[in-house]
Amino acid sequence: MRFDILTIFPDFFTSILSHGVMRRALVQGQVSVACHDLRDFTHDRHRTVDDRPFGGGEGMVLKPEPITEALESLSLAPKRERDTRRECVVLLSAQGAKFTQAVARELARTERVVLICGRYEGVDERVNELHCDRELSIGDYVLSGGELGAAVIVDATMRLLPGVLGNEASSAFESFGPAHEELHGQFSQEAGAPPLSMHGAGGLLDYPHYTRPAEFRGLAVPDVLAGGNHEQIRRWRRERALEKTLRNRPDLLEKAELSEEDRRFLRQLQQG
Ligand code: SAM
Repeated sequence: MRFDILTIFPDFFTSILSHGVMRRALVQGQVSVACHDLRDFTHDRHRTVDDRPFGGGEGMVLKPEPITEALESLSLAPKRERDTRRECVVLLSAQGAKFTQAVARELARTERVVLICGRYEGVDERVNELHCDRELSIGDYVLSGGELGAAVIVDATMRLLPGVLGNEASSAFESFGPAHEELHGQFSQEAGAPPLSMHGAGGLLDYPHYTRPAEFRGLAVPDVLAGGNHEQIRRWRRERALEKTLRNRPDLLEKAELSEEDRRFLRQLQQG
């Protein structure tokens, strides 16, 4: 998979791309990321990328010409003829649709994603109209530029690609994971192996994790996790995921895939 990032601050990405999973995916060639400096697509002495807004008001707006020339240099299909399962041009914007794990899963099925980072008051809207397939926001707050958003999208998307995480199950069974039926049959389990962590899947938040030492500053790891009873561990994890989702993100429960047992447990929690 290839990402192209259009930005006025290409160096912003140097550190982000040189650590952990992201670095490994780049070194192993599963992902490539090219950062394009919008100032390379200007034609004046000052390499001007912005101008004053029509209609007056605060700040400056990123001009459409450098972004358009940068996009043209990438030899993408024109917007109307573009197969967005192969190529997708994304405008980072506080006004965009929310970037979620489901959107990350869609992008991970795309061969090439181009990310346009705004600055100042934003990007001339004609860039959106002429070139962009999606307008995405990483959350309900205003950042000073699209670079952090682009980094979030690259990170969340590339870790879903086959082979990027050592263990395929890691990304399937974590917070916001797909529904069980989507996963059905994808992961086999050897007899006697610890249970697959199917408890954060189906739209809930993940359950809490523990490692050694078994006791730390007076807090012990829950006994059930050391007990080796896979069914009890599965149930404990599921209940903690339900508890955490109810406490921190009750909105997710509306769409989550819940069993009758889950619903009973939630009713008990709600009744205090
Ligand atoms: N005037 C814009 C508004 O009120 O919606 C805010 C512009 S913001 C200061 C500059 C740039 O940061 C935007 O063009 C966009 O690329 C990026 N940005 C800001 N908030 C963002 C968010 N929540 N998600 C993604 N990108 C964001």
